[in-house]
Amino acid sequence: MKQELTLPRFSIGVGDRFGQQAKAQLQACVLALDAGAEVVPVWNKSNREHVIIGSGPSAVRIAADIAVRELRWPRPYFVDADHIQLKTVERFIEPCDFFTLDVADIIGQGTDVADVDAFVARHGELLGSVEIPNVDAPFEVDREYLHRVANNFLAAVKEAGRIYRAIEERKGGGRFISEISMDETDGAQTPVELLVVLAMIADEGIPIQTIAPKFTGRFNKGVDYVGDVAKFAREFREDIAAIAYAVERYRLAPNLKLSVHSGSDKFSIYKALHEAVRSSGAGVHLKTAGTTWLEELIGLAESGGKGLVLAKDIYSEAFAHADELTAPYATVIDIASNELPSPGEVKGWSSEEFTDALRHDASNAAYNPSFRQLLHVGFKVAAKTGPRYLEALSENEETVARNVTANLFERHIRPVFIGDQN
Ligand SMILES: [Zn+2]
Repeated sequence: MKQELTLPRFSIGVGDRFGQQAKAQLQACVLALDAGAEVVPVWNKSNREHVIIGSGPSAVRIAADIAVRELRWPRPYFVDADHIQLKTVERFIEPCDFFTLDVADIIGQGTDVADVDAFVARHGELLGSVEIPNVDAPFEVDREYLHRVANNFLAAVKEAGRIYRAIEERKGGGRFISEISMDETDGAQTPVELLVVLAMIADEGIPIQTIAPKFTGRFNKGVDYVGDVAKFAREFREDIAAIAYAVERYRLAPNLKLSVHSGSDKFSIYKALHEAVRSSGAGVHLKTAGTTWLEELIGLAESGGKGLVLAKDIYSEAFAHADELTAPYATVIDIASNELPSPGEVKGWSSEEFTDALRHDASNAAYNPSFRQLLHVGFKVAAKTGPRYLEALSENEETVARNVTANLFERHIRPVFIGDQN
């Protein structure tokens, strides 16, 4: 019998807008392996990003395969059809072996009453005082609450079932990893809601290996976490406990783990993540956003000359089209327009001034989160320069790659999967 695809305990989702950095990204996993931690890469790119760049999922597969071959990566790796829905899944089916089923849009839209009633009737074990090992207080669930949660989530889980089966029909069961994502929605989900949702997923027969709830706090793209870190830490530990309980109770995949759609750079919660997985023995999938593209820009600016000029040109274009670039990301960015330097001012900057403003180093007084966020969503501007951008990358390959690798390894992999040395 063929081996079912299994996602290892630790994995990192990496985005590569322009498809040039797979090797530099993989190098960060190589460093982790050298340090004794297996952290497997999952290359993710959403349909929206493909549409903006004008690329397709097979390009991600090719870049991943080449990087793996060149670096002789000896562990598993995956290509993720990120945030797909039934209407966008088609071209991802062949090249991908990881599917993030996005049903966030349907959450809270209501579910057929008969389905809700049937769910509640089937799950009497979820009523009353539900005791979960490693959770301080039992979850108190009454019938009305269970009804409400089922009404909010059941239709979404049923839709995830439809997407899953469409993929399964084509690829065959066990030949791909599935994740259900609920992060791109308004409200955070509590651990008890997560437990109820897992019961639904088991009923629907979706063998997910990761699940991405929406956590408390704000996860803006490319900048740090905004919220109550202690509250997040408790919720995260309770989510892990709810998953462990659900795996036993509902016979879900034994390696089922949380997927944190971090948006990158959530430095202030990484310690809590590390401690929670270490003390529980749980795994985690840390998904980063396309901040690799910002490391490309940092590398170009650092190189000086034409690279720096190009980085500045991209900023002035992004500044001129700020409203249009930021609109699709309104819920995941917070830019203070009065903090944005004028393009004229930036034109006079040295390499160091540009990289100091862009690089996410909160201890540097010149770091400017608004500048960083605008450039983060400004990849469309770079895409429009076409070959000019790609040529600059290859001319400055070494400097760019060094920044890409160091950012992933030092700022993300080390704190989450290895732990701070001090
Ligand atoms: Zn997400």
